[in-house]
Formats: sequence, C-alpha cells, structure tokens
Amino acid sequence: MVTATSDFNDEQLMQILSGDCPDEDLFREADRIRREVYGDAVYLRGLIEFTNYCKNNCYYCGIRASNRNLVRYRLDKETILNCCREGYGLGFRTFVLQGGEDPYFEGEAGDARLCDIVSAIHGEFPDCAVTLSVGERSRESYLRLFDAGARRYLLRHEAASEELYRSLHPAEMKLETRKRCLFDLKEIGYQVGAGLMVGAPGQTLEHLVEDIRFMQKLQPDMIGVGPYLRHKDTPFRDQPDGSMQLTLRLLGVLRILFPYALIPSTTALGTIDPQGRELGLQVGANVVMPNLSPVEVRENYELYDNKICTGEESAQCKSCLEMRVFSAGYRIVTDIGDVKR
Ligand code: SAH
Repeated sequence: MVTATSDFNDEQLMQILSGDCPDEDLFREADRIRREVYGDAVYLRGLIEFTNYCKNNCYYCGIRASNRNLVRYRLDKETILNCCREGYGLGFRTFVLQGGEDPYFEGEAGDARLCDIVSAIHGEFPDCAVTLSVGERSRESYLRLFDAGARRYLLRHEAASEELYRSLHPAEMKLETRKRCLFDLKEIGYQVGAGLMVGAPGQTLEHLVEDIRFMQKLQPDMIGVGPYLRHKDTPFRDQPDGSMQLTLRLLGVLRILFPYALIPSTTALGTIDPQGRELGLQVGANVVMPNLSPVEVRENYELYDNKICTGEESAQCKSCLEMRVFSAGYRIVTDIGDVKR
C-alpha cells in the first residue's frame, strides 16, 4: 500500500500512522525518495539560541514567560558572530537564530536590533544562509529582516486544528495569526518551515492528518517535527511524552508527500531515544541542527526536560553528529543546503 504515490487519502494516512501497514515498507519508500532527490547528503544547520526571554506562555514550553526557574539571557551581536565564526570553521553554512518572542527584539527599535545582527552575519558570511526562528511578527517586520539578509524562517504551526491549537496555548495566541505569518513569510520570499510536536497533549491521529493537509496547502520548504517532551515547569508537566515510532512514521509520510522538503532529524528525537536521530535520517530526514550556542547558556534554553547536548562544545557536537550520520548511512556536506525544486 505504501508505494510511490503522490498522495494518500485520509483513511490511508490513518492506517499508516496507526501502524496498520508495515512500517518497513513506509520507511523503505521514504528513504528511496530521499536518496532520489538528495542522495546521501545531510545538511548542517548551526543553531544559535540567542535569547530565552519570551512574552508567551505556551503550555508545553520550558522557556514560557511564567517560568521563574531559569536564568534569562540574551546574547549580544559580538557573541553571536563568534558562534558563527566557530561554526563556519567547522563547515556550517547556515546559521539559525532561534529565540523566544523577546520584546527587546520587537517593535521598531527591536527590529533595528535584530536587523543589525542579521546584516552583520550576512555581511561577514555572504556564502551562508541566515535562518530566523523568532515567532510571530508583523509583515513589515518580516520584510525588514528579509531586507537585512535573512532568507529562511522556521515557524512551526504547532497544530492546524483550531481546537487543538487552543488547548496548547493561552487564549491570546491565535492559530489564525500563526497561519497568517506563515503565508506572509512565503509571499515575501523566505524559504519557510512549518511543523509540529508529535504526541502533543490531546493530539489525535485525525489532528495529524489535518496538519498534513494544512502543510500541503502551505507547501513549506522545511518541516520540523519531533516528539512532544514534558518540561517540569509547565502546566503540561504530567502529560506523557510523544512516541518515537509515531514520529518516525510521520517523518516517512512527510518525505513521501514532500519529496523536496528539508526535514531535520531533531534534537527532541535524539532526546527521547539515544538512536533517535539516526533513525530519523533513515526514514526521510535530511538535516541535522547541532547547537552552536555558547555552552554557558545552553542549560537555560531547555524547552523540555533532559535536552541533550547541553554540555558539549560546538566542535564536539558536530563531530558526534558526524559519526552518527555516517553510522546511519549518510554523510554531512559543507553546503548552504537550499531547497531543491
Ligand atoms: N519562539 C519561536 C521558537 C520556539 S522553540 C517560535 O515561536 O517559533 C521551537 C520549537 O520547539 C517550537 O516551535 C515547539 O514546536 C518546540 N517545543 C517547545 N516546547 C517543546 C516541548 N516541550 N517538547 C518538544 N518540543 C517543544
């Protein structure tokens, strides 16, 4: 049943995701397509977690505004540039600036601050891509950041279902706004990444089908999915973690439905299982995102409990991943890694 088809109907998707079809067939087909489009290449993205200040209170997230059990930090331009310099030497050609929705980087003055950082990176590393992942902003702000040199934007939609989205976020956060942001980003010309957490509290397989349908409309260039993992200082602290197997099935389905997508094998997948990231690569993922943040701040960017790689220097993180990628049957390339269409 899992063959070279460009689409599945809802019933087929439910069967695949529930494990009614042999996973081996799904995974084999996903890997075949991935190799057809991207060969055995795995792209590196250097993640720089540059601020953990956040005005939001997502029920699942460890850096939510109400969490007082962490030290808030924000990296300055020079520190960020040093992370990029180190990363460049290690072969990184994409830098991902990720953070909470930090008011310091919002509004007109905040835009100027963030644009200044983006253009400094873009100026010093013209052969690299600058990716942003800083949440919901106005169209004008996205436009300014694009003009400053940002070319990619990661904004997981989190849940395409209104009902599920509302149960994961406080009332002031609106799914409609998030979707509007994604379409604005696309229209401006960014390569756009959507995505979700597998096994988020209350999520059903029907919800995942809705997520897939939404992404088929959006046609994102990047898709980030990892298991939901609990964090001790959130309202969801007692909710069970997502499942690795379901995450792998979804990755396989996504590779088949989005042959060109850049799909990371996420840190969350590596946290839920020591072999998680290797398995992710073998079922369709083609990106890894080692951490380039200064080691001193890493433990304060804990989105979920037990996040891996918080104690390792960037070089260690990269060589560890290099071995993992190789052992999974692929190879890391030094390449900007734009989407192939
Ligand atoms: N403020 C940015 C970045 C958020 S952190 C934004 O709004 O896009 C990046 C991603 O981490 C989130 O989109 C979410 O899907 C994921 N995440 C947050 N908390 C998590 C948790 N407890 N388990 C797994 N993933 C989580």
